[in-house]
Amino acid sequence: MKVTEHIAKNKGKGVFSFEVLPPLKGQNIQSIFESIDPLMEFDPKFIDVTYHREEYIYKTQSNGLYKKHVVKKRPGTVGICAAIQNKYKVDAIPHILCGGFTKEDTENFLIDLDFLGIDNVLALRGDAVKTETYFRAEPDGHHYASELISQLSDMNKGKYLDEELKNSSATNFCIGTAAYPEKHMEAPSLESDLNFLKKKIENGAEYIITQMVFDNQKFFDFVARCRKGGIKVPIIPGLKPLSTKRQLNLIPHRFHVDLPDDLVNEVLKCKNNQAVKQVGVEWCIQQSQALLKLGVPALHYYTMGKSENIKEIAKRVF
Ligand code: FAD
Repeated sequence: MKVTEHIAKNKGKGVFSFEVLPPLKGQNIQSIFESIDPLMEFDPKFIDVTYHREEYIYKTQSNGLYKKHVVKKRPGTVGICAAIQNKYKVDAIPHILCGGFTKEDTENFLIDLDFLGIDNVLALRGDAVKTETYFRAEPDGHHYASELISQLSDMNKGKYLDEELKNSSATNFCIGTAAYPEKHMEAPSLESDLNFLKKKIENGAEYIITQMVFDNQKFFDFVARCRKGGIKVPIIPGLKPLSTKRQLNLIPHRFHVDLPDDLVNEVLKCKNNQAVKQVGVEWCIQQSQALLKLGVPALHYYTMGKSENIKEIAKRVF
């Protein structure tokens, strides 16, 4: 079932959903199941699986020179999605990226998903690879998520890259897109970021999942700006419970979001990370309950591979 259908069917109740990461290369799929199993009792309607593009690492050779290697540390997004749908009968949503893909690669990737009966995707640009400052598209790849969304919409109309293809069948993807209530780090202004978000919706995105937010007011201000700008699709807040003191610096640095002072002060008072975890869980419960009360269509939790704290939250919220 499509994410938009889950939202329509559960109107007023609030849909539980979360995101998992593929395990590091060499690990077993069991580790993914172990992070999903404890959350199944809360009846998630969809589970997102992130996509991780290649990274460059440099290895020293016997002559002392460095050699560049391309590695993919967390492969397996498509296989994991198929396994989740098969084992739990829950819709799994692969994240798909512009980065590292030509249009042809994307088409083949989407054909695989279609054959596997996966009909939801979250379409993203992806970040620059770690050794580069700016995002660089593949030659004949997409530069922005809006272009990837156009390709998806074309396939939903039966339009493939080879225009001479005869009797092609239309795919049926429900397309999600990302947004940033506190602005994407590269966007020159909130207004500019919103205009490009509008383009993604015009090109066919049917719902939005936001970057993690810790302050509900920032989420609702963003929703108000979207509605004023003519964006009508469901907007799902992304939530992440803090679990370590280090995240006070790490999260703003990595995700370009602010943490509210009240939360920061509570975390600073904690004697150890066990106490931080409790503060993070309580904060996230309060946030979740308030968001549901004000009618958000769904809540989306970033598990980062750990479900213990999400379970604590779901127990009190769903
Ligand atoms: P875009 O919508 O393409 O926007 C990127 C930037 O370009 C923005 O600043 C935007 O304002 C600007 N822009 C857009 N169109 C234009 C244009 N035509 N001209 C000029 N500027 C333009 N990353 C991963 O690698 N794997 C994942 O699985 C993953 N999952 C994510 C899930 C969620 C919910 C979120 C919020 C992010 C996720 N990311 C993931 C991170 C994401 O890939 C990065 O934030 C990336 O930098 C931007 O992706 P986007 O799809 O929002 O890009």
